[in-house]
Amino acid sequence: MRVLITGGAGYIGSHLVDALIKRGNEVLVIDNLSTGKIENLRHLLGHPSFHFINDSILNEPLLERFVPSMDLIFHLAAAVGVRNVLQDPLAAINTNVRGTEVVLGLAFKYWKRLVLASTSEIYGKASHVPFREDDDRVLGSTAVARWSYSMSKAVDEHFAFAYAAKGLPVSIVRYFNSYGPRLDERGYGSVVANFIRQALRGDSITVHGDGKQTRCFTYIEDAVAGTLLAGEVKEALGEAFNIGSTRESSILDLAKAIKRLTRSKSPIEFVAYEAYYGEGFEDTRRRVPSVDKAKRLLGFTAKVDLEAGLKKTIAWCREHFAH
Ligand code: UDP
Repeated sequence: MRVLITGGAGYIGSHLVDALIKRGNEVLVIDNLSTGKIENLRHLLGHPSFHFINDSILNEPLLERFVPSMDLIFHLAAAVGVRNVLQDPLAAINTNVRGTEVVLGLAFKYWKRLVLASTSEIYGKASHVPFREDDDRVLGSTAVARWSYSMSKAVDEHFAFAYAAKGLPVSIVRYFNSYGPRLDERGYGSVVANFIRQALRGDSITVHGDGKQTRCFTYIEDAVAGTLLAGEVKEALGEAFNIGSTRESSILDLAKAIKRLTRSKSPIEFVAYEAYYGEGFEDTRRRVPSVDKAKRLLGFTAKVDLEAGLKKTIAWCREHFAH
């Protein structure tokens, strides 16, 4: 198969590329390296089945040269991570909304199966966990920039569902706090990367608020497995899926686990949200996926337990983070 991966130089995208190449597919990555990194793909440069174009998904004529010859598209190119979005909300909205409009429009024109990468941020600050795919979304005011990320991805999902209603073979995956090798050292969009960097350097491990907010950390292998299934299984068409682990951890417990596994002497320090995100930040208190639908229709369940996943991630970070 010939597979196009937008955002394939990113943390999740590059792992997806590896999995698809391993299965014997021909892969084309289009990525403008805004948050993606060529290091994530360097081992594949020169591989006969791998092709890379450094450009934006907003370059429609370029995309249109390649989409017709593809069998499958994974659309992962996006501004990701709450902090990243907060730093430039305008760029994030443009990339996420206009970029997806271009990619989905071409998938529709040339009738290609597509998997859209979305996020658990979609659910906003809904307080009723676990989050089911068809649950209501609960968002704050449009004056709070954080929610623009959720909104922009929701527009993407609406596009996808609208095309699906016209018969296009489209599926959506909503990732839940994925972590693993190749996380950005600066911790964009990942408390795991932030804590590991801090622990390895001996800096304070900075827990926001009271540290009782929870997330379900999902190892990259599981996130990739769910994504591949969404591009394969017939029952996935026209559907959105939570792709996540169901093990709920508090941020304070995560800090303790990372401190222990790195044998770090770093103190755990509680800091105000505002110090990191600026004024007027709103957090999601608990985030837990319902994975019933992914299990039933895709046959997906997350397999890697948190401790095992953290160990592998820490081993990679020791090699690749400056400390
Ligand atoms: N967080 C933290 N310390 C950090 C970075 C993040 O306590 O150095 C918290 C953050 O406030 C949030 C949780 O960890 O409550 C998860 O943040 P992340 O950016 O990983 O992803 P999110 O789930 O917010 O998209």
